[in-house]
Amino acid sequence: MEKIIDSNLIEKLVNKGQIPTKGEVLQILERAKVLKGIGLEDTALLMRAGSAGICLDDIYKAAGEVKRKSFGRRIVLFAPLYLTSDCINNCLYCGFRKDNIEAERNSLSVEDAVREASFLEGIGFNRLLLVAGESPKSSSIDKIVEIVRAIYDNTGIRIIHVNAAPMPVDKLKLLKSSGVGVFQVFQETYHEKTYAKMHTTGPKSNYQKRLSALDMAMEAGFDDVGVGALLGLYDWQYEVLALIAHARHLFDKFGAWPHTISVPRLQPTVGSPLTSAPYPVSDEEFKLIVALYRLAVPTAGVVVTTREPASLRDELLPIGVSQISAGSRTDPGGYSQDGERFDASQFQTSDHRSLEEMVEYIASTGHLPSLCTSCYRVGRTGKDFTETVSHEEMERYCLPNALLTLKEFVIDHANGSAAICNEVIEKNVASIPDEKLKKATVAKLKEIDAGKRDLYF
Ligand code: SAM
Ligand code: SF4
Repeated sequence: MEKIIDSNLIEKLVNKGQIPTKGEVLQILERAKVLKGIGLEDTALLMRAGSAGICLDDIYKAAGEVKRKSFGRRIVLFAPLYLTSDCINNCLYCGFRKDNIEAERNSLSVEDAVREASFLEGIGFNRLLLVAGESPKSSSIDKIVEIVRAIYDNTGIRIIHVNAAPMPVDKLKLLKSSGVGVFQVFQETYHEKTYAKMHTTGPKSNYQKRLSALDMAMEAGFDDVGVGALLGLYDWQYEVLALIAHARHLFDKFGAWPHTISVPRLQPTVGSPLTSAPYPVSDEEFKLIVALYRLAVPTAGVVVTTREPASLRDELLPIGVSQISAGSRTDPGGYSQDGERFDASQFQTSDHRSLEEMVEYIASTGHLPSLCTSCYRVGRTGKDFTETVSHEEMERYCLPNALLTLKEFVIDHANGSAAICNEVIEKNVASIPDEKLKKATVAKLKEIDAGKRDLYF
């Protein structure tokens, strides 16, 4: 079998112990700024330097610079849509696990899912991530496909991504053909022994099968896939290097870096035998992890969800994060109901700001809130996406598309945030360096004012 992760090499790099000099760190950061990624050795050196407090500000600054070169100032916003809390697996950390007798279970029908999607569309989201426990009954591939099609047919949602269990190639092809953009499978932990301890029964207990899930997705025609390690299960330094090794494997094999790197950190949940993280990750470490992912895989969307507190998410904006969720519910059906139902949730969320509050906050920091979905729809995906970003050509799409979707948001959904959003739009239009592009953007903004929707470059 093909070796995706060389655990001996990663262990060696974690334990090597050599702390680089300031000069060495600055050299690596210069190499990272050409947007071709940095290797495991260099990442390990930055990790060690950052952990020892050496050049930490330089690392953050470089990560921010790499993010700006890759995607400009835009921060993409999305919402998760949970389909079911039924699950045949027993992941010790998860509220949905099979043996959790305290869980209040709920599964959405196709109509329920469309209702939830319409609610999210109604507050301004264009992009959804469908999330599901693994259940042959409640989240069979055919049912997910039916839901995807029904949401596209009955709502204005523009792109749907999926985070679900690994699937065989024929099912992945079916899922892709329903119009799904990114297929995400988190490895949770790349450390095989820890993986075995955390995933005791069910199909997810097969480490290798999970590790090869994204190769299969790429082979089935998904040119965009998403990786993630659940922080807190094992030594974060091992996880970060292993995840980057996984990303490099996909790049070497398919010519495209993973489209997203999610950064989930273990949160409390009802009925979990894991009452605290076996390997806690501090906020300072979390920030360094985000910066390292950004430097090592510059073209990836680095995703931080509402699992994290507002203050930490705010601090991550200038150091590499590029996609965030807002107003999330992790209890299936939660958007159509009042009040968070912890017993029915996968885990507890922390940042409860609404989409509009997030848009307003992002705009106030000089970043650019974006509800854009253009790349998936014009086919700027996979290898093409990777190359466009690494040639520093993506901002000419990200910037105007963020402005067009922000304009739609102001007209259709904004209450208190219109003034600051309009100010940001005006300022950013003026900053478009290419006069032709600036003119085309102004023309499209006028069309939106006149009632047209869904315009993009
Ligand atoms: N059931 C599928 C699976 O496990 O691949 C779909 C995804 S699961 C519903 C979404 C992700 O939530 C998991 O991959 C895991 O990383 C994360 N997760 C599970 N329990 C968590 C917890 N207690 N805190 C934070 N994240 C958690
Ligand atoms: Fe099921 Fe996924 Fe939760 Fe594991 S993480 S118990 S597979 S929903």
